[in-house]
Amino acid sequence: MNFSEFEKTYVHHPFYKAPVGNKLHAKSWQTEAPLRMFLNNLNGEVAEDPENLIVYGGTGQAARSPEAARGIVRSLLQLEEDQSLLVQSGKAVGVVRSHPEAPRVLIANSNLVPHWSNWDHFNELKDRGLMMYGQMTAGSWIYIGTQGILQGTYETFAACGDKYFNGDMRHKLLVSGGLGGMSGAQPLAATMAGATFLGVEVDPARIRRRIDTRYCDKMTHSYDEAKAWVLQAVEKGEAVSVGLVGNIGDVLEKLLKDGVVPDILTDQTSAHDPVNGYVPAGLTLEEALSLRKTDPEKHKQLALKSMARHVGFMLEMKQRGSIVFDYGNNLREFAKQGGEKNAFDYKGFVPEFIRPLFFEGKGPFRWAALSGDPEDIRETDRALIEAFPEDKTMVNWLNKASEKVAFQGLPCRICWLGLGEREKAGLMFNDMVKKGKLEGPVVIGRDHLDCGSVASPYRETEGLRDGTDAVSDWPLLNLMANTCGGATWVSYHNGGGVGIGYSQHAGMVILIDGTERAERCIRRVLFNDPATGIIRHADAGYERALEMRDRFHLKLDD
Ligand code: NAD
Repeated sequence: MNFSEFEKTYVHHPFYKAPVGNKLHAKSWQTEAPLRMFLNNLNGEVAEDPENLIVYGGTGQAARSPEAARGIVRSLLQLEEDQSLLVQSGKAVGVVRSHPEAPRVLIANSNLVPHWSNWDHFNELKDRGLMMYGQMTAGSWIYIGTQGILQGTYETFAACGDKYFNGDMRHKLLVSGGLGGMSGAQPLAATMAGATFLGVEVDPARIRRRIDTRYCDKMTHSYDEAKAWVLQAVEKGEAVSVGLVGNIGDVLEKLLKDGVVPDILTDQTSAHDPVNGYVPAGLTLEEALSLRKTDPEKHKQLALKSMARHVGFMLEMKQRGSIVFDYGNNLREFAKQGGEKNAFDYKGFVPEFIRPLFFEGKGPFRWAALSGDPEDIRETDRALIEAFPEDKTMVNWLNKASEKVAFQGLPCRICWLGLGEREKAGLMFNDMVKKGKLEGPVVIGRDHLDCGSVASPYRETEGLRDGTDAVSDWPLLNLMANTCGGATWVSYHNGGGVGIGYSQHAGMVILIDGTERAERCIRRVLFNDPATGIIRHADAGYERALEMRDRFHLKLDD
């Protein structure tokens, strides 16, 4: 199909759509796969704001501009299996010679030399059309809608319940800010874990979207109504979620005044970006949107001050007995810059709840059915339940997800798997494609929030035992391992989750098309990728990671 025919149906800004079915539009599945996943990231059911090519996470984009999006599509339609496409901050910039077991697409997003790596310099370049903020999976074309973070959020809340409430979240109130792309997973994750949830969000359209996709139960503009609903639910032990339109700082202030102390308090507003993410208290959403354009510096200063006030209230809640943790949006750092000197007096969610999973190479394994047929995901769910019956948490999750999660765009699934398990699942899926048990190929990828692929001192690598929180050699090694292993596309980004200059991280996606080539690539990539996480944590001195390193022979004898 030539580009103009293809464009009419699939690339009509802002109406992007991934082709489905078994007919190829690109020259092979190796290029059809990134083409479909790129368009899927920008599809209106998946992306938060396709008009601006924003997929999630504040301003996380899949392409730099509508022209750049068309350029990427045009390149993918022509790319051969002995070529690799270079994508620089959301724009196709060239092709290089490679080979059929090498990645088809090599992506670098938002990277700046460390001395210049800050929002101010980045925004200057962005305003001139030279850069794009790729977040994590937005710019690496493996965002799968809010489901992508749902399991991780569920596991985090459940781990919090296990640690502090003997695993029983009934009669517990969980309060958080933000109901956007990722943060919108919180209400469903909280109720799945058994808690009552109050989410505060300035943008009513965002809450409406969570209601429409069944992630959130109820919505109101009234603080009093929201308070009454959640207090009643807490008393009855009902797992209900409420989205309240408001500014999280203001609502926390009111809750403090009213003596309502949440059992668990966290935040997932887009605090990582004080200019284009967090909405300062005292401004309506519309006023904030306009100030961002007319006087970004003023917006930044107001946002920093508001974040300081917001964190001040969180610290006060902690004093009064709330379990408070940071949820990976860099709120503490910006609150500190805004004047709250005790901002780091509560910990991040990784050291609190997640890190032990990284010692076993566990992380957010995810896959998408390129056929577009939801039955393909149901088949893979069933196959995983059969293959890992002993993993009760995973089986429980897959059962709940198939019942409760509405697909957005191409049908997808996520579940956390570790070293050994990911390779086994990948080979199993490849066999299913080969034998025709699935309608079409799948792709397997992951979030960059994984065991070996990220350096982020206020999040994934916060408080490491050996103090190597800021060492970003590790995600680079992960990228190189996945490139030489033969992932179908790989990516390296700056600033995901916490903002420009605060993190570096790598992504990978691999095509599972039932071929022997795929099998060879799976054996390398789906082993090496989690292995780098174990190696990284073993090197930092964690006993369980050292044990796993030895068990899987990940180091040659000294
Ligand atoms: P998003 O931009 O889609 O949603 C954030 C929401 O916060 C928006 O809807 C916005 O209207 C709202 N908001 C902003 N300021 C507010 C305020 N003062 N009061 C109430 N609501 C406010 O972003 P997202 O994809 O949901 O991500 C949220 C944050 O979480 C980002 O900082 C992101 O980097 C981070 N993140 C964390 C994880 C994790 O695993 N912990 C994963 C991905 C993203």
